[in-house]
Amino acid sequence: MEQKGKLFVVGFGPGDFKHITTRAVEALQESDFIIGYKTYVELIQDLLTDQTVISTGMTEEVSRAQEAVKQAENGKKVAVISSGDAGVYGMAGLVYEVLIEKGWKEETGVEIEIIPGISAINSCASLLGAPIMHDSCTISLSDHLTPWDLIAKRVEAAAQADFVIALYNPRSGRRTRQIVETQRILLKYRSPETPVGLVKSAYRERQDIVITNLAEMLNHDIGMLTTVVIGNSSTFLYDNKMITPRGYQRKYTLNAEKQPLKPHQRLQKEAEPWAMDQETGLTQGSYEEAAVGLLTKAPAPEKKSTSFEIAMEALSRVSGQSAAQSITPPLVQQEMESLFELAVSPGVANKQFTPRQMMMLAEVVGEKGTMEYTPNHKIILKIPTTEPDSIMEKLQSVGFLLSPIGDVVTLKACDFCDGEKAESIPYADELQQVLGGIEMPKELNIGFNGCGMACYTAVIDDIGIVFRKGKFDLFLGAKPVGRTAHPGQPVAEGIEPDRLVELITNIVEEYKQNAHPNERLFKYFKRVKKIQGYQYQDMAPKIKIEPAPCGD
Ligand code: SAH
Repeated sequence: MEQKGKLFVVGFGPGDFKHITTRAVEALQESDFIIGYKTYVELIQDLLTDQTVISTGMTEEVSRAQEAVKQAENGKKVAVISSGDAGVYGMAGLVYEVLIEKGWKEETGVEIEIIPGISAINSCASLLGAPIMHDSCTISLSDHLTPWDLIAKRVEAAAQADFVIALYNPRSGRRTRQIVETQRILLKYRSPETPVGLVKSAYRERQDIVITNLAEMLNHDIGMLTTVVIGNSSTFLYDNKMITPRGYQRKYTLNAEKQPLKPHQRLQKEAEPWAMDQETGLTQGSYEEAAVGLLTKAPAPEKKSTSFEIAMEALSRVSGQSAAQSITPPLVQQEMESLFELAVSPGVANKQFTPRQMMMLAEVVGEKGTMEYTPNHKIILKIPTTEPDSIMEKLQSVGFLLSPIGDVVTLKACDFCDGEKAESIPYADELQQVLGGIEMPKELNIGFNGCGMACYTAVIDDIGIVFRKGKFDLFLGAKPVGRTAHPGQPVAEGIEPDRLVELITNIVEEYKQNAHPNERLFKYFKRVKKIQGYQYQDMAPKIKIEPAPCGD
């Protein structure tokens, strides 16, 4: 019986053999014919054995597709190859178009299998960091088959809608203006500092990676083998990596170690002075001059203005028109708010709020924030804001103690009988200063009670410290929550006050260094059996109780 023909349309990924799929390799090896653009065939040459290769020039895609269909109809197995994914500006659509022209139907016609590959947007993104992450799109700047007006419209729409954009076919020997015009459109909506990644020949021999920004991107080499990745308004640079956060609302707490972004990396408020309408008739030169002038802050506008007004002023200077005449759409500004989270309390020992503090809370939390009272004698604030620093200043100005929330050290002290048993307060204060807010594998509450009554329940905190007869007793490894909760194990009595802070610091440090992520102190103690020389004993209830996870 005659062999049945088959069409494989194969995306072979960025170019190296580690990033091609197993199915793609199988298809190439199963095929009688390999049909593709010369450069691409060369890239996969070493995977071939005795297949017949038909390689054609760049612009001969249609004839390649026709040849492939013809060979498959003659009973041959044919692989049509594309770099990246064959369905992304590749051969898949063309092959279908040729088949459809011939009245092909899946049931009766030649068999076809499209084999997916890693497209440039993904391979290039992997080399830049994590720039895609959020809603993104690809736009090809090639106007050979697509009218430029339509491409420009898509760039405009994507820029306006704050998509991360991967520009394919950004520039060739003859098509040099498209990327310049694209930059101009993007700058209408995005800050000049928007991170931009240029990846040339990803995972190929001449791979080159440049991280730059929207204002500077044209000062670098961009060619046929480059993919240009434009960040969205929340994309930031960190250690020369381009990162787009998963969401727009970022969370900040107080702890400096935890801040992924420095304040200056948050979206700047400056309006884009570049927001010029396409219809202004500006030449690239005059536009750049105006822009550079604004960036270097010269010529300075005479009166103090908002950045939007500065942009309008610049526009009227270069266009000779009043700003209102020349700008039609309003600028799109992504005013970035972060959700600032922190905990406040009147003090380590002080449990009394003043009216001024309550009024300040109401002021900073406003209509949009929330206040939540917790079992740890703290109020947790969650406030959407662009200015966490000013919130902190205000709260501190009325005497609040601020602490980060999350997996950090929290000191919970009693009220020392309204300050009557004040002898040990300085030690609580010192512990707060030394350890308060430090990041931990899991939340770590230190309970500090000023007398043997321990009525603020220090013995059921992760670390319990009880002041008694001028010295300290220490409890370790309580399981503070759950149906199998139990107090901490009394590990030492009569610790001399001058040893306390160092001893607790050592315990906390040891736990921080050695615990698994999310391993609470009691679990760590149970696992390692010894902390700072203190031996573990099982304090769990002796009768059998099923532990129940949250919600059960
Ligand atoms: N089908 C391909 C795209 C073909 S269009 C895919 O899915 O990736 C050709 C454009 O793709 C190039 O101009 C370039 O912008 C991009 N491109 C393809 N391979 C690339 C690579 N290895 N490195 C960088 N960009 C690449």
